[in-house]
Amino acid sequence: MDGFDSESLYEQDRLHVWHPLTQHQDYSHNHPLIITHGLESTVYDINGQSYLDAAAGLWCVNVGYGRQQLIDAALRQMQQLAYYPLTQSHPAAIELATRLASYIPSTPHIYFSNSGSEANETAFKMVRQYWQQQGFPHKTKIISRFRGYHGSTLGALSATGQPERKRNYGPMAPDFMQVSAPYCYRCPFHMQYPSCQIQCAEDFERRIQIEGADTVAAIIVEPIIAGGGVLIPPPGYFSRLAHIAKDYNVKLIVDEVVTGFGRTGSLFGHELYNIKPDIVTMAKGLASGYMPIGATAVSDEIFHTFLGATDSGRHLRQVNTFGGHPVACAAAIANLNIIEEDQLVKQAQSKGEYLKQLLVDQLQNVPWVGDIRVQGLLAGIEIVTEPETKTPASDAFMRLLGRHLIKQGILAGKATDVETWHNNILIIAPPLVIHGDELEQIVTGVAHTIRQVGQAPPI
Ligand code: PLP
Repeated sequence: MDGFDSESLYEQDRLHVWHPLTQHQDYSHNHPLIITHGLESTVYDINGQSYLDAAAGLWCVNVGYGRQQLIDAALRQMQQLAYYPLTQSHPAAIELATRLASYIPSTPHIYFSNSGSEANETAFKMVRQYWQQQGFPHKTKIISRFRGYHGSTLGALSATGQPERKRNYGPMAPDFMQVSAPYCYRCPFHMQYPSCQIQCAEDFERRIQIEGADTVAAIIVEPIIAGGGVLIPPPGYFSRLAHIAKDYNVKLIVDEVVTGFGRTGSLFGHELYNIKPDIVTMAKGLASGYMPIGATAVSDEIFHTFLGATDSGRHLRQVNTFGGHPVACAAAIANLNIIEEDQLVKQAQSKGEYLKQLLVDQLQNVPWVGDIRVQGLLAGIEIVTEPETKTPASDAFMRLLGRHLIKQGILAGKATDVETWHNNILIIAPPLVIHGDELEQIVTGVAHTIRQVGQAPPI
């Protein structure tokens, strides 16, 4: 690509850009790619090298890169009204909220923010205030799951069940706690489905009983634990969870930050399980990453407890300067139009089936592949040193795998194994517009690379 002095960009990046999840001391042999542009499922770096983005950025560019319709909508909105806060209102927020309410009629009240973390923080505050206003001041605890990820801010991090993300950042916020994840490949109870009778769901009931239901405000769950390793719950898990929440008068918050907007082959992940959450949080795919936006969608029942006399203090006493930013809302509306017009939810379902078939065909006999989990266009491949022991592949193994994949022009994601701190799960979550031959290229590249690294693993 013309016009870039790559050496000086690397140097300035090294000096001034503090990257997430990155050991900067490794920079000389492991600098980041500097990406300049993208089209559909492909991104390009400063050296003109192309990469298939099998991770859709951070699992968010659902409609693919370079969608002119979306870009035009954002530009038009910026020309018309560049900014206005939602302490008043504007047409783009009204249209987007109405649209989201039509998708999930049981949670028709939409609070806008800028990210998944903020959407979850907002949900926690809402349920706590809700219970206070209902006369249950001790119902403050939020129960989530090990391996679940709910964000980087302190409340959302406290709800996160990945100890390595929390380390050094304590103390965490009080009244957050985790129970076991639905992780059949490494069952925390050393049992097998279905004879386990879904102990991981029962764990919620046990925890609520131990804590006392009068102290528990809400449960928060991802429909599929994404960053924690693409953990797909077994049949019956979510209906049991919904029952437990109802029986103990605990609100159910579903975190759709990754699973929303077609990723799993349904518009929202929770639709796979036929449950009705009290609150749904969303971000990433809402504007496909073209603009930052998060949303917290809330039931009538919760919303109505916030109504009262002007000075009663019952209103939500929170503001986000950029929440519901007009340009982000306009981008989100155009994004949803594309998802509908291109039937991307249906596409994610059929392409997901194809991806699953490719992964099973090409990977199931590879000795370093312990488990393959796929739902829609969200796939996790668990890399182990040998299938019998299920010993997770080392960080060095996974780093080398990532580097070899990049050399082949493939960008994939990685998830985290909590118990070992190893990032031994490779994640494939491409834009929903990905083509069949591109999926083939990704899977062939992944199979080849796992063999290559497995045969000469790093010491
Ligand atoms: N919830 C889930 C399930 C996520 O995967 C993430 C981010 O990856 C978040 C919340 C936090 O979103 P953000 O990074 O936009 O704050």
